[in-house]
Amino acid sequence: MSAPEITAVEQDYWLIFNKDKLLTLVSHDTAAIPRTTDLAAISLESLKKYHLGKLDDCNCYAAEITAGLVLPENFKLIGLWHLFGRMEERFFWMAGRASQIINWDHTHQYCGRCGNLTNEKSEEHVKECQNCGMTFYPRISPVVIVSVIKEGEILLVLSKHFKLPFYTVISGFVESGETLEECVRREVKEEVGLDVKNITYFGSQPWPFPHSLMIGFTAEYDRGEILVDEEEIEDARWFSAGNMPNLPGSISIARQLIDYFVENNQAR
Ligand SMILES: [Zn+2]
Repeated sequence: MSAPEITAVEQDYWLIFNKDKLLTLVSHDTAAIPRTTDLAAISLESLKKYHLGKLDDCNCYAAEITAGLVLPENFKLIGLWHLFGRMEERFFWMAGRASQIINWDHTHQYCGRCGNLTNEKSEEHVKECQNCGMTFYPRISPVVIVSVIKEGEILLVLSKHFKLPFYTVISGFVESGETLEECVRREVKEEVGLDVKNITYFGSQPWPFPHSLMIGFTAEYDRGEILVDEEEIEDARWFSAGNMPNLPGSISIARQLIDYFVENNQAR
């Protein structure tokens, strides 16, 4: 192992949360993650911090501030959701990582087995019970997300749970003991009543709302008629590449799946 790189502390990035909002340096429409030098007005040494990794060879730390702190000029507390598209993607994903670590810190102060206090284990993101030694890692919840294609059309659904009226691909949480492919088949069957085949891995994306890992697939329609789960789905229908409805933002893997379909079906 090589020695750890030495970088200027002044250049470190700080992903500082107050509740679910991130301390952000704002100018016009853009938002940036502050560095140590931007934060002279905040006593950084007093904050409990978690090392997240590096960006541009600079360390990134997650930390928290309490409510009531007077923010330095040009700073705002902004919900992660509203930073979508307002900062460079790699910073957005680092902010997502930070929010998951902070969330884990909050929800694992006590042991789930014996109820005693937990400690962090050195620089690792692991908490250990002071009494029984049980360990707790940050929670990651796998979610499958799948584009279903039939003769040059893609199946998109309007969910009852989204605040914004857009159509997207089907997704759902993986259950205990289930393979990803079984989850794809079950979710499509439950949500729209269809059977699918040729399930193919597409890519993945961490999704920090609050701690999902989206695992993308493409699949082909096999058989059945659309029959929506009325608890979950407002509408489901087939769309051609030339006739797309309102879609989710381009940063999401949902949109990447849809764009991939459009690219491969332009002439239709
Ligand atoms: Zn315990």
